[in-house]
Amino acid sequence: MRKPLACAAAALAACALTTTPTHAATLKTAGTGWKLASQLGVTSISPFRQYTITFATTAMKARYTPLLAPAVAQIKAAGVKITIGGVEAVNPAKCGPVGHIQITELYRPMGKAGFSQGMPCPNPAKGVGVGGIVAYDSEYWTGYRIETYKLRNTLVHEPLHALGLDHPNSRDAAGQEIPYGCVATSYGNTPVMCSPNGGYKTATNMGKLTGYDTNGLKALLANARAQGIK
Ligand SMILES: [Zn+2]
Repeated sequence: MRKPLACAAAALAACALTTTPTHAATLKTAGTGWKLASQLGVTSISPFRQYTITFATTAMKARYTPLLAPAVAQIKAAGVKITIGGVEAVNPAKCGPVGHIQITELYRPMGKAGFSQGMPCPNPAKGVGVGGIVAYDSEYWTGYRIETYKLRNTLVHEPLHALGLDHPNSRDAAGQEIPYGCVATSYGNTPVMCSPNGGYKTATNMGKLTGYDTNGLKALLANARAQGIK
């Protein structure tokens, strides 16, 4: 299967690539409330690879570290070796060192008010994610009105893209994602990976992964084990 990627962000050179997933056929890439970024060639996370979240500036590290910490603890508990690291140069058009999830801010990286962007580095060897790039919309901090839970969930949603999760939304007859078209718990909670917004809405749980999202991470790890990846 070879198809061009639909990607709104010209800022990321990766968007211009076409993908040829080679492992998707034999691995599980979707389930209830989760979907892997197999369209970008990512089907796995090695349980042995170190993933490190880094930031473009000291101010960003200070701003985002506490907001990401609860989710990072959950990702770690799911079996991913992930940590919050330091500051390094981030070029939004180019992937950084292996294993780095690089976070920066751009003004409307998707060309749309309030939307941020996250994506994995495409087509890593054997489909094992090597990290990716996150560009948060800078206008969140300059007066853009967004409900707190939506902001907190968005801040977690984007690094999960970089780790290899896609939107689990169902699609219409034309193949387009149905906004908010996601499975929900009996409490009405959708996956944090649901587009354009998902996740918990309470002050206690906003910014955390739901069970659906955790299952997606576990699938990424299981796919690595199924391939005997060390
Ligand atoms: Zn998304």
